[in-house]
Amino acid sequence: MHARPYNFYAGPAVLPQEVLEQAQSEMNNYGATGLSLMEISHRSPIYDAIHNETQLLFKELLQLPDEYHVLFLPGGASLQFSMIPMNFLTPGKVANYILSGLWAEKAIEEACKVGDVYVSFSGKANNFTKMPSLQDIQVHTQMDAYLHITSNETVNGTQLHHFPVIQDVPLIADMSSDILSRPFDISKFAVIYAGAQKNLGPAGVTIVILREEALPQHTTSLPAMLDYRTYIKHNSLYNTPPVYPIYMVNLVLKWIKHSGGLNIMEKRNEEKARLIYDAIDQSGGFYKGLAHPASRSLMNITFKIWNDELEKRFIQEASTQQLVGLEGHRSVGHIRASVYNALPYKACQALAEFMKEFQKRYS
Ligand SMILES: *Cc1c(COP(=O)(O)O)cnc(C)c1O
Repeated sequence: MHARPYNFYAGPAVLPQEVLEQAQSEMNNYGATGLSLMEISHRSPIYDAIHNETQLLFKELLQLPDEYHVLFLPGGASLQFSMIPMNFLTPGKVANYILSGLWAEKAIEEACKVGDVYVSFSGKANNFTKMPSLQDIQVHTQMDAYLHITSNETVNGTQLHHFPVIQDVPLIADMSSDILSRPFDISKFAVIYAGAQKNLGPAGVTIVILREEALPQHTTSLPAMLDYRTYIKHNSLYNTPPVYPIYMVNLVLKWIKHSGGLNIMEKRNEEKARLIYDAIDQSGGFYKGLAHPASRSLMNITFKIWNDELEKRFIQEASTQQLVGLEGHRSVGHIRASVYNALPYKACQALAEFMKEFQKRYS
């Protein structure tokens, strides 16, 4: 393959080079069928093997207890913002949300269309620079249908470093931008979900990992495609699943497994993020991190430069040096370096070097 730029896009985002190469080599002849995987039935044994193996890889990497289902859904994490309340917010109960950033805000907006919602913690007054501490996360056992958290706020660059243990209220998490970046105890959660295009693969499939007994009984029936039970009952094959994105996720999971699993991912992610946070903290104020230090994300590193013009120049010059995708989200601006699992250490080294060199030239 040609030399590729270092890819700091927030999503869709960098994929492991090995994965792209394997997909390329199998593109028009998968498993000696003479056909592309995109051209064969989702009910064929060839696809079935990929489907089931992908579920098994999740089970293995996350050490999932038996009562959890791994589901493949369309519609992105955004559809989950609606499906979670449709399936879990029963009449007479209230959904409890942690408003930690832009994505949590969107999840709340959708839940409000379905039923009663309250926000038990809001970081809005702090401009979403801080995640709640464990003491800030409270539930009301009799009242709450569930508690919804966002493990990593992709736009704001904050991350929850500890998950609460909640008794008697299902804990639900949007893990779109940090799933499989570190080990965690899944048994605390009723549901976790993640769009694939940050840390798992290409856009087009959303992973939902769900404990079936946490699903409340419904008196009215939901449309089939919006009901988790449909996906459980049909093993996510009620309709045609996004077969190619699932195949790509399969390759990414194998890459994680062969790299050494989630402990290794976490260690690498810490080392990578440290390079860039150090460049910020050792710049004497030339660069300033946007997130409170205790809430800093290992996946999305947000920072600014004291002068707007310089910021534009930074992004522009970086791109000419093959460091791409550093613009902050349009709602926040400034600079954001997304450093997901698949981004190599040397990309972060190159960015940290560029930051130091840029500072020397412009301070
Ligand atoms: C990207 C993202 C989403 C939205 O994902 P879509 O797949 O575009 O719907 C939701 N939550 C978080 C945390 C994200 O990073």
